[in-house]
Amino acid sequence: MGIRTIVHVDMDAFYASIEQLDAPELRGKPVIVGADPKSGNGRGVVSTCSYEARKFGVRSAMPVSQAYRLCPEGIFVPGRHKRYSELSGIVMETLSEFSPLVEGVSIDEAFLDCTGTEGLFGPAIQLGKKIKARVRERTGLTASAGIAGCKSVAKIASDYNKPDGLTVVPPGGEKDFLAPLPVERLWGVGPKTAARLKQLGYNFVRDVAKTPKEDLERLLGRWGAHIYELANAIDPRPVAPGWQRKSISEETTFESDTDDLKFLRDVLTGICESLSQKMLRENLKGRTLQFKIRLTGFETFTRSHTLPSPVFDMHTLREFAWDQLERFDRKGKAVRLIGVGVTEFAEDDAEPQMDLFASVESNQKSKGKGVVETSEGQTREEKGQPGNAAPNEAVDRLIFAMGEKFKGKVKRAVIRPRGTDGRMPRLLRQSEHDDQKET
Ligand SMILES: [Mg+2]
Repeated sequence: MGIRTIVHVDMDAFYASIEQLDAPELRGKPVIVGADPKSGNGRGVVSTCSYEARKFGVRSAMPVSQAYRLCPEGIFVPGRHKRYSELSGIVMETLSEFSPLVEGVSIDEAFLDCTGTEGLFGPAIQLGKKIKARVRERTGLTASAGIAGCKSVAKIASDYNKPDGLTVVPPGGEKDFLAPLPVERLWGVGPKTAARLKQLGYNFVRDVAKTPKEDLERLLGRWGAHIYELANAIDPRPVAPGWQRKSISEETTFESDTDDLKFLRDVLTGICESLSQKMLRENLKGRTLQFKIRLTGFETFTRSHTLPSPVFDMHTLREFAWDQLERFDRKGKAVRLIGVGVTEFAEDDAEPQMDLFASVESNQKSKGKGVVETSEGQTREEKGQPGNAAPNEAVDRLIFAMGEKFKGKVKRAVIRPRGTDGRMPRLLRQSEHDDQKET
């Protein structure tokens, strides 16, 4: 397997940080999200607590009664799950700008496969900084990130320097990184297994790593083999995308409110241009267009319009936005914010925008499926979405999604946009294994 760039992003004290974000008076204070402690008699557990509360020894999943005893001055707040999932959505959406392969592990953490994105985002350290900065910019919240060649090491790395941390494990450095860590840091090793391992004399990951696999199997059963692999940074599990973008939007808030119509139109043009490019990059087309306007005094209005067929092109977006601006009765008020969004993306059974067909001679096309011809002459058809890859990576991404076994065996794989009415720039890119030109 080639070297992968797997990023694990984990929001810091997610629920508690959101409470502090929304209520500035809670910042710097021990905030405990969970059931009402009822002066120490409450039932239920802590779901998250702020770093200030952690200093008192409060932890997630701890009974609130215990948390209350440890930190009576703690500010206990009930969870607001709607708000948490709203921000989670923004986090996942932000992450999807860095890779089509984003796997949400929970509401506040995700894996990204950013293999081959150096050209776009720079080396791993830059990539990590950019991801963290963008998440912060979009949500006001901090995240910790770990970058490594496989999921289990990336996961450990994100936890290595929390909060607001970034840990990059260089390719080949995984084993050295893991070696000094206590065994309970291995992903999937819970307190019970950790206790058992320690009882057997395995205190650090290096103790496990250097033990023959068979010995661990004998001691721990099949689980032993798994732990051996984790300790040796052997983890070929792919990032399995489970999150799909549902909408895309862009908006601009003005430094000072304005009613200059020409200026507003120019801003809308810029927004539509950038939105259209983003949609092009992510292979999105949407049926419903949204216009958002906020006036002096913070009143916000949205107007949406559903089209018979999905679009992504700049002209349609701009026409819609200009028209909405023209029609909107501002009652003489100035504009504070303006934005455009697109939603109701074309489904898989509709015309796919990207179609991968490998066997050029037979010009075989297959909707929603990838067709790849291997060097051994087989033509394999696999369910696989091209994903939202940047066009010049889409082929690799699809092959990746089809499974590692195809890597290196692909004779040709061509990806090209379809149903574009000639409006879209030519995006065809052929894989490294194919030097044939666009036909
Ligand atoms: Mg977290």
